[in-house]
Amino acid sequence: MPGEFKIIERIRKAAGRPSGALVLGIGDDCAAFRPSPGCETLSTSDMLVEGVHFRLSQGLPAVGYKSMAANISDILACGGKPLYALAAVGLPEKGAMRTALSLYSGMRKCADKFGVRIIGGDTVRSDKLVISITAIGEAAGGKTVTRSGAKPGDYIIVSGELGNGSAALKKNKAWLPPLRPELSFELCGRSLVSSMIDISDGLSSELYHLCEESGTGALIYEELVPVSKAALNISGGIRRRALSAAFSGGEDYELLFTVPAEFLGTALKLGRRHAKLSVLGRMLPARQGVKLFGSGKMKVLPRGGYDAFI
Ligand SMILES: [Mg+2]
Repeated sequence: MPGEFKIIERIRKAAGRPSGALVLGIGDDCAAFRPSPGCETLSTSDMLVEGVHFRLSQGLPAVGYKSMAANISDILACGGKPLYALAAVGLPEKGAMRTALSLYSGMRKCADKFGVRIIGGDTVRSDKLVISITAIGEAAGGKTVTRSGAKPGDYIIVSGELGNGSAALKKNKAWLPPLRPELSFELCGRSLVSSMIDISDGLSSELYHLCEESGTGALIYEELVPVSKAALNISGGIRRRALSAAFSGGEDYELLFTVPAEFLGTALKLGRRHAKLSVLGRMLPARQGVKLFGSGKMKVLPRGGYDAFI
């Protein structure tokens, strides 16, 4: 692509010089960093395609921010500290430089906010805008939190409020997820959490992932699900409709995690210094399935679907 090197050069200048544990940054064949002794390296990547995961009308800086946030969120969901990111972007030829810089400004804003350095990437020509970010982080040895550690009896907790991502998408606005690094460090650093996942696709499907990986069932109570004001507003103030955004809307990037009963008090006390926390229910043996109690009835929790609750 004409101008590719110019784009990389501009981004390289904006990224600054390597320092600290970063030995080599943008511009060489590889980036190089020194891992912290005794830590596990975490890596994750996420690809977003124009028209599928975002619309240009949401604004390029916001799209850049969100794509970086989605990756940082995955590192936090493993109890890790996010450190570095690589950004590969497919750019339509028309206005490529402007698009790249505008997108990069949003990525950089998010990266800076959460202490992440962009250390490399690639640009190619593409019919549609495509963004693929890889994030790298680390967790103290043995402290990486997985989706598979929950046991029957563990309490199920969610941070923040749900439905913001979905409400913003419906209004064609950008949603900049808050992310919860302090909450993740505090609870995972003290080994209070038995399993954790970030909510990228909605409470329902993420709870199913936790149950499948942990080999458990779950029971959550509809009335305990924290629904955001934005979700209520787009639902005409009707909570049952807003619940649809919480359960299956996605893009909230809140943390869903389980805590053994003996740690519940400590986890809530410490965690609530950093974020609103709602206890939704408890994990069950697998044979009892994934259940939702609401309006006096026990039902199987629908796995997804925007209309499941309307
Ligand atoms: Mg995730």
